[in-house]
Amino acid sequence: MTPPWTARVLTLFPEMFPGPLGHSLTGRALEQGLWRLQVRDIRDVATDRHRTVDDTPAGGGAGMVMRADIAAAAIDAAGGELPVIYLSPRGRRFDQARARALAAGPGVTLLCGRFEGVDERVLQARAVEEVSLGDFVLTGGEIAAMALIDATVRLIGGVLGNADSTVEESFAGGLLEFPHYTRPTEWEGLRIPEVLLSGHHGRIAEWRRSQAERLTKERRPDLWRAYLAQAGKKDRAGEAELSDAHTTAATGGQRKDEGDEPDR
Ligand code: SAH
Repeated sequence: MTPPWTARVLTLFPEMFPGPLGHSLTGRALEQGLWRLQVRDIRDVATDRHRTVDDTPAGGGAGMVMRADIAAAAIDAAGGELPVIYLSPRGRRFDQARARALAAGPGVTLLCGRFEGVDERVLQARAVEEVSLGDFVLTGGEIAAMALIDATVRLIGGVLGNADSTVEESFAGGLLEFPHYTRPTEWEGLRIPEVLLSGHHGRIAEWRRSQAERLTKERRPDLWRAYLAQAGKKDRAGEAELSDAHTTAATGGQRKDEGDEPDR
């Protein structure tokens, strides 16, 4: 039997896991064996009496650097069958497409840095890819590893109760998600948009798409441009049945929109 999707985490703080991953949907899926979590204490590979894992930076400066021999021993001990990622602010930005790609594979080994990070040579020698959570600096890779695991595990079949929720959600179709509402119908003088109460599925779908387009255009000009380019391509190939609004946006809206948007 093939083993379930596996997250192997190399960390100096194994007691932080499973943490939030042990709760709610990911926690239930973990119990059900839909994925598994293997946490390894990097300190276990240290050979000296004090279990030292780091040293001062070559060339001077603040902080401590994880030694290449220690990080390599931890990676080697973890076994070679999974791709190795080092969580790092210098890495390529993690996104939904990456989560999907990872979810489709056998799993991942995640190296969590602390302090200044790890000796560059281990990244080179073990062909470790660097992946970032975003343009900010965390104190360690553990929270980033948890975020990456959470985003990936929820895409594995059977983890979410309703698989449809990953089809419509933000980024899935290149757009941010439309706004949600639930009862009460009126709250603090604010009403749920009438169309959502109409029971008219076609109009509801249309409204949701136009809201998703509006939000994406307003908040994420980068995603909006990519979406228009994609829609334009489909349009030219005559592959897709695009809605009227969608076609207008793809053909007429682009230049004007780009001029209107602030750079982000
Ligand atoms: N000196 C490094 C930052 C080290 S922060 C630099 O300037 O690039 C300590 C550890 O936290 C890193 O080794 C990394 O594993 C983790 N980390 C910090 N910010 C991160 C981010 N944005 N994404 C992923 N991991 C991050």
